[in-house]
Amino acid sequence: MQNSTRASSSIALPTSPIDLAIVGGGAAGLSAALVAGSARLSTVVLDAGLPRNRFAHRLSSYLGADGVDPAELLARGRRELETYGVPVIPATVVSITGEMGAFMLTTEAGDTVQAARVIVATGLTDRLADIPGLAELWGSKVFHCPFCHGWEVRDQTVVSIATVPGATHAAILLPQWGAQVTYVTNGFELSGDERATLTSRGVTIVDDRATRVEQIGDGTRVTLENGEPLDSDWVHAASAVEPNDHLVHQFGLETAANPMVGVDFVVVDGDGATSVPGLFVAGNASDMGSQVILAAAAGYRSAMAAIRGKIMSDVAAGLAQATPAT
Ligand SMILES: Cc1cc2nc3c(=O)[nH]c(=O)nc-3n(C[C@H](O)[C@H](O)[C@H](O)COP(=O)(O)OP(=O)(O)OC[C@H]3O[C@@H](n4cnc5c(N)ncnc54)[C@H](O)[C@@H]3O)c2cc1C
Repeated sequence: MQNSTRASSSIALPTSPIDLAIVGGGAAGLSAALVAGSARLSTVVLDAGLPRNRFAHRLSSYLGADGVDPAELLARGRRELETYGVPVIPATVVSITGEMGAFMLTTEAGDTVQAARVIVATGLTDRLADIPGLAELWGSKVFHCPFCHGWEVRDQTVVSIATVPGATHAAILLPQWGAQVTYVTNGFELSGDERATLTSRGVTIVDDRATRVEQIGDGTRVTLENGEPLDSDWVHAASAVEPNDHLVHQFGLETAANPMVGVDFVVVDGDGATSVPGLFVAGNASDMGSQVILAAAAGYRSAMAAIRGKIMSDVAAGLAQATPAT
């Protein structure tokens, strides 16, 4: 089935029920759309356009796209979807109701899309610690993930501010990239074991609070509560993560606490399938550890499952038609 569309203000929405609606046009959603569209499922992507890594200028460790602007990867993805006629519609979905075969999505503008299956790929929200200056430098001079930014901070100085429980994790990892790390406890108690581990990694521990973060030239300054400045090349600070999964709450899906951060995420199988048939949650929305390439892979798997599901529904319908009623 091809996509039929109707104009709704400046956007084009499908007029008739489609095979697959994808909520979110980040790596997970666009990858799912590519797979589904090329399998000739009528597919639409509804995207609010705020991918999590929009603050960063460099995407790391994505095979074939290492170092590109993250926005460029998504732009490439949207261009690839044109081949298969999959529209990416700028819209925020506010509700999903119904069931497999007849899910109904409603956008903030009041438009609706009916789809047999839905992939929710809405990512997660980073809640930042309330330290003046931190939010302004997030993604540029302040980073949260050694795997994303480790190469950029190699052999340089980093002040790592404890902002969430378990914050020592990154400070322990960072010396792998040659970073010289100063760890500001910021009111979080350190156990004897944690102190010993940090020290064994060459990390300097400062028992004080961070009151301000600012950029000084190419570097950064963290001002401590005692008034002293800590100058370095970079600042590390983790965020408190919150999955953008409110759209599926009303389905009463099982959730489980992520063991690292204790935050609840929807439980999905290896295909991103939830306990509701035809409803998938892929990428950061169900897995905080999904880096961009992993989010893309998760979207791929959900799309394959949706395609298989559609084919099996077609088979069942065909058999029902062929079987004479008794
Ligand atoms: C500063 C920073 C730098 C990073 N750098 C890297 C890196 O170098 N390499 C790497 O692998 N990872 C990096 N990451 C992690 C990366 O951002 C995630 O792995 C990736 O964004 C997850 O993709 P996703 O598709 O699951 O979610 P997202 O990319 O967040 O996409 C979700 C999309 O869904 C949309 N959406 C949300 N709710 C709705 C709704 N209700 N209706 C419609 N649309 C909606 C959003 O607007 C967004 O466009 C970085 C993260 C941060 C914060």
